[in-house]
Amino acid sequence: MDEYITLTIGKQKNIALIAHDGKKKDLMDWCDWNKKLLQKHFLCGTGTTAKMITDRTGLPVRGYNSGPLGGDQQIGSKIIEGAIDMVVFFPDPLCAQPHDPDVKALLRIANVYDIPIATNKASADFMITSFLMDEEYGHEVMNFQQSVQKRSESL
Ligand code: PGA
Repeated sequence: MDEYITLTIGKQKNIALIAHDGKKKDLMDWCDWNKKLLQKHFLCGTGTTAKMITDRTGLPVRGYNSGPLGGDQQIGSKIIEGAIDMVVFFPDPLCAQPHDPDVKALLRIANVYDIPIATNKASADFMITSFLMDEEYGHEVMNFQQSVQKRSESL
């Protein structure tokens, strides 16, 4: 069994949208500005962010729990299941968050699964205008079946 397997992100992406309170307006403005591009994809987000984006832009955004109540963890678990392909996440760097461990866990899991994750407006601008937004994209992800097999034999 190979150490890595190639997973494919389809042309239509499953995009998760998250913003801390101090950045919600920025993310709503960004979604409004990029509405034409975003409406080609499937959107979801943490509870409050999702609702505010829908109210502001009319874009359908499936809402998970609110971030401080576990929404970031739900989004992390969807990345693991392959149901979320990329994340636009505007954290507030000037404000401590009660759910900081969950935020760190989300960033970590995005790295484990090689998921594009933009954590500020400039990165999100570059990401959303990439030609890859309209293409299939194959990326290398650790082969967890192989890893479990190897670990169970060696430990
Ligand atoms: P919210 O959660 O969209 O429910 O506010 C976002 C967060 O703070 O992680």
